[in-house]
Amino acid sequence: MTEPERESMEVDILYVGAGPATLASAYHLMKQVEAHNEACEKTGEAPIEPPTILVIEKAAGIGDHQLSGAVMNPRAMKELMPDFVEQGFPTEYVVEKDYFWLFTRKGTIKSPITPPMFKKRGYHVISLSNVVKWLGEKCEEVGIEIYPGFAGAEILTEGDRVVGVRTGDMGIGRDGKPKTNYQPGMDIIAKCTILGEGVRGSMTKQLIDRFEMHGQNPDTYETGIKEIWRVKPEKHQPGRVVHGSMFPDFFGQINGMWLYDMKDNLVSFGYVTPLSSENPNN
Ligand SMILES: Cc1cc2nc3c(=O)[nH]c(=O)nc-3n(C[C@H](O)[C@H](O)[C@H](O)COP(=O)(O)OP(=O)(O)OC[C@H]3O[C@@H](n4cnc5c(N)ncnc54)[C@H](O)[C@@H]3O)c2cc1C
Repeated sequence: MTEPERESMEVDILYVGAGPATLASAYHLMKQVEAHNEACEKTGEAPIEPPTILVIEKAAGIGDHQLSGAVMNPRAMKELMPDFVEQGFPTEYVVEKDYFWLFTRKGTIKSPITPPMFKKRGYHVISLSNVVKWLGEKCEEVGIEIYPGFAGAEILTEGDRVVGVRTGDMGIGRDGKPKTNYQPGMDIIAKCTILGEGVRGSMTKQLIDRFEMHGQNPDTYETGIKEIWRVKPEKHQPGRVVHGSMFPDFFGQINGMWLYDMKDNLVSFGYVTPLSSENPNN
């Protein structure tokens, strides 16, 4: 197939992936420029033009790929946006009670002491999807553009310099051939390209391979399950967070469970264990 004609656009800063990391970064950058320009009014220095910032997101809607509920330390949000609560941050509950339980084969030991790493009072129980949707709105309010439905497919380079990203072609059939609605991906040229694809990002991998950036800390993997149950109202305990560890070996291997209550009588719980875990039934 001959190389199709592609549209291209230029921006100052391009973020790939609309997760909490990139949206917070883009918002912070715009606020820094705003603060600088406000200071210029007092000092008489010339203000700078706000940069054009674009965030591309492969999900059809912002927040659609964030599956995580979370018990979030609000410190970073306070630093990013001191009045985040007043601005409508989508907190489900603020944690009031934190527990640590040890599960044995036959029962549960409810620890009278909660170890420091599991102390979560004052943390915010959130749906990350809702937080990302909300952060996206805040970004748009300060002039950041977000394009959902655009997946970065290829890093564009000039020599050893990253100059942007090519988005994926649309309308390709399962046989790999273009369909009638075929639309070639677009080249987005940027002065600065920031990859925020989350874990196992496909373009991040391209970049790591190409520039030999395999570091001292390779990825590590665990196995986990998570379920969300709707419970009877009398079983629902807003503001409760439980962490725990399970048999057969509480301390010899790092495994753990969580449980916390969300709105609408929902309870999120799950368990994570290393791939090297032994079968507890052995
Ligand atoms: C089940 C579960 C429970 C968790 N619980 C907690 C918790 O309690 N507390 C806590 O702090 N953290 C928790 N986490 C971790 C937390 O979700 C992540 O640390 C966080 O989402 C990472 O943010 P990020 O912005 O780096 O990436 P992500 O949130 O992964 O965002 C990356 C975005 O980039 C998009 N993207 C990827 N590749 C491309 C591409 N090529 N082009 C365009 N877009 C792309 C993705 O669609 C996604 O929207 C949990 C995670 C899971 C899965």
